[in-house]
Amino acid sequence: MTVDAVVAGAGVWGCTVARRLAESGRRVLVLERRHAVGGNVRCETDAETGIEVHTYGSHIFHTHIPEVWEFVNRFVKFNGYQHKVLARYRGKTYFLPLGLALIEKFFGVELKPCEADAFLRDEARSKAVFDAFFRGYTSKQWGRPPEEIDPSIIKRVPVRTSYDVNYFNDYNQGIPLSGYNSLFERLLDHPGIEVRCNAAVRLEGGAFWVGGDALPCVPVYYSGPVDELFGYRFGHLPWRTLRFETERLDVRDYQGTSVVNYTEAEVPYTRIHEFKHYHPEDAAVMNAPKTVIMREYPAAWKPGDEPYYPIDTTESRALLARYMEEAAKLPGLVVGGRLGGYKYYDIDKSVEAALSLRLLGQ
Ligand SMILES: Cc1cc2nc3c(=O)[nH]c(=O)nc-3n(C[C@H](O)[C@H](O)[C@H](O)COP(=O)(O)OP(=O)(O)OC[C@H]3O[C@@H](n4cnc5c(N)ncnc54)[C@H](O)[C@@H]3O)c2cc1C
Repeated sequence: MTVDAVVAGAGVWGCTVARRLAESGRRVLVLERRHAVGGNVRCETDAETGIEVHTYGSHIFHTHIPEVWEFVNRFVKFNGYQHKVLARYRGKTYFLPLGLALIEKFFGVELKPCEADAFLRDEARSKAVFDAFFRGYTSKQWGRPPEEIDPSIIKRVPVRTSYDVNYFNDYNQGIPLSGYNSLFERLLDHPGIEVRCNAAVRLEGGAFWVGGDALPCVPVYYSGPVDELFGYRFGHLPWRTLRFETERLDVRDYQGTSVVNYTEAEVPYTRIHEFKHYHPEDAAVMNAPKTVIMREYPAAWKPGDEPYYPIDTTESRALLARYMEEAAKLPGLVVGGRLGGYKYYDIDKSVEAALSLRLLGQ
């Protein structure tokens, strides 16, 4: 196939860009380093139970962006799953986010919605809540006490003065009925798209390569790590990584919900995921006598580890700017996605970024 554009990386961003390119009449070669497409949203089906296991940790699709919702619904339908997160602290279970249900149980009080704000404005109470539910969790997540972390990370924690225990505010939520992998397979299912897996793109001598082959001289839409592309010549961009421990258990239901956060610093993991709860519509999976759980352990990142969360500091922003300057010097190179942009994106924001991208040659 003659190629009009190359997409390096078949995660959410790359697959969306490839689809747009193909629908605009271009012939697209998609090159993916891993053995399969989907990036970090990829799932594997557990052979024994049929449970869809989120290989890189729980992924819940949620959005308030109509164009994104409309776009993904062209390819898959969602099951309407609404995400709720529980927190375990000192032997008790609470509903997150921080709202009336949690406050009442934690302090043993009853409050009207209009009283909750003033109740939590009390410094001792707000400190008690922060220490119980956020201090230990945040320290484990980032490997540093919350005081040392950018305040915006802490602000991400939603606070509500209602009994609404829906974790996300977005009206549109769910898990693809046919599984996440089908979203990527269908996005790439177009006569103008050719996909090659186990194919890492690299830059050498000013040209792009895959294995021993130079890539055709066309626009390259790259969603791999931007520092890797330039041989880490200014140093490594810092990340936090995660270690996952997956177990199949001989119980029908282990924790009664999809995610429980363990907020105490002494518990080494941050969350336990139980994947069957993402498909309440699937009676066979829900009633299976076994379940699959995954413990999530945050860890310091070193080169070679999977990069999960970018560490936003003045130094890392300056380093990113240097790499972006290098990227801007290469005509025909477009860098994007979470690894290229060194930025945390939810799935919908990755789709939005890809949908609003100016395609080269248009
Ligand atoms: C633990 C965790 C949980 C999350 N949970 C949610 C959630 O519940 N809901 C939500 O909306 N979002 C969630 N996200 C965010 C979501 O994972 C991202 O939005 C999404 O993965 C971004 O897609 P991407 O295409 O930018 O990157 P990726 O998914 O990382 O895809 C990039 C792809 O490029 C490939 N690649 C890299 N380098 C090269 C190269 N040189 N050549 C070829 N291929 C290459 C990689 O193998 C990968 O497949 C979560 C993120 C994390 C870290």
